[in-house]
Amino acid sequence: MIPDNPAVSIDLNLIRRNFPVLQTQVHGKPLVYLDNGATTQKPRAVIDKLNELLESKNSSIHRGVHFLSEQMTGEYEYAREIVRNFINARNTNEIVFSSGATGSINAVAFSFGEKYIKEGDEIIVSEMEHHSNIVPWQMLCARKKAKLRVIPFDENGVLLQNEYKLLFNEKTRLVAVTHVSNSLGSINPVKEMIRFAHDHHVPVLIDGAQAVQHSRVDVQDLDCDFYVFSGHKVFGPTGIGVLYGKEAMLDTLPPYQGGGDMVDCVKFEKTTYNQLPFKFEAGTMNYTAAIGLGTAIEYINSIGFGAIMQHEKNLFAYTQSRLKEIEGLEIYGNAKEKISIFSFLIQDIHPFDIGMILDKMGIAVRTGTHCTQPVMDHFQISGTIRASMAFYNSFEDTDRLVEGLKNAVNMLK
Ligand code: PMP
Repeated sequence: MIPDNPAVSIDLNLIRRNFPVLQTQVHGKPLVYLDNGATTQKPRAVIDKLNELLESKNSSIHRGVHFLSEQMTGEYEYAREIVRNFINARNTNEIVFSSGATGSINAVAFSFGEKYIKEGDEIIVSEMEHHSNIVPWQMLCARKKAKLRVIPFDENGVLLQNEYKLLFNEKTRLVAVTHVSNSLGSINPVKEMIRFAHDHHVPVLIDGAQAVQHSRVDVQDLDCDFYVFSGHKVFGPTGIGVLYGKEAMLDTLPPYQGGGDMVDCVKFEKTTYNQLPFKFEAGTMNYTAAIGLGTAIEYINSIGFGAIMQHEKNLFAYTQSRLKEIEGLEIYGNAKEKISIFSFLIQDIHPFDIGMILDKMGIAVRTGTHCTQPVMDHFQISGTIRASMAFYNSFEDTDRLVEGLKNAVNMLK
């Protein structure tokens, strides 16, 4: 694993120049991009890599003997090694490429569900999950007549650990919980939650879609059974994601989809499957995006999580204090352990109205439920304004946001 040096500080001007979209204008104003929870922007290195692949290397992987195919296969498998190193998996058999966090969770819900879930069994999720970590389990429960149990959170957006522990019984088969909430920003104590589940012989899937871009994740240290994330939220391309699974677990699971590449020998009498990780990669994979994800991770590594975390911590504190200047602004999600996601409402103004006005000022935020309707139901609200930050955001971005919000409130009051 790459060691993270917290003493190294970030060269923000240089970093921002690496992201072409951050130099663009929206409605005649320099873009302030604060929708990183939805997707992150791409550094020049990733854009150049994708161009290079499409211009001079494109060829289907794994099935060719010719030069281009071998070259592309090499790059694809190297990207797998980069991902392995990024999350410190034991070996590349444990790294399956998917279409995204959603694709990974659905794969586990089908595959693990096929093998291990039967009528009356229970699966634990939390009240703050993204719909992607609720609906696949509901679909599984409907197929198998199993039951979903839900860990509630308190008024600050902290998962209630006592309630979590009370949910376990002899029917509990899996815990699926988010590492970081995309609408509240809460960082959940997943290591402790995993340890508790394992004490009860229950495997755990962690949704890391909002975690891997903010801090170093070590799947061996967490000891999770599955860990999933999306490439596009970690400065890589869309259409690619990662499913990490412990090798011993993945070995026991049936394939999720059938097709080319995931097979060993196909006969009408009986087909045998390929070894890990290919058993879970049916058909022509999005190999360009996988390689682009590898480049994005190398870019992150070149900055280092020590510097990234320090900058994001400073940005968080500054933004938190500046948002207090706005009268009637209420933040949803005030966990002590939190990343730079700010979900809020101002007085009784509709979030959409504020989002539209901010957009006219070149400021991109998200409004709505953020695919977490149960979170909105918890607070009995219809949605929030969400400003979500990445390491390339600056203190000036926060200033522009605060100024924009003040103007929007004046216009709408
Ligand atoms: N989980 C969380 C916590 C998320 O924030 C998201 C995306 N907003 C997802 C899962 C789904 O990611 P994707 O749409 O890239 O599959």
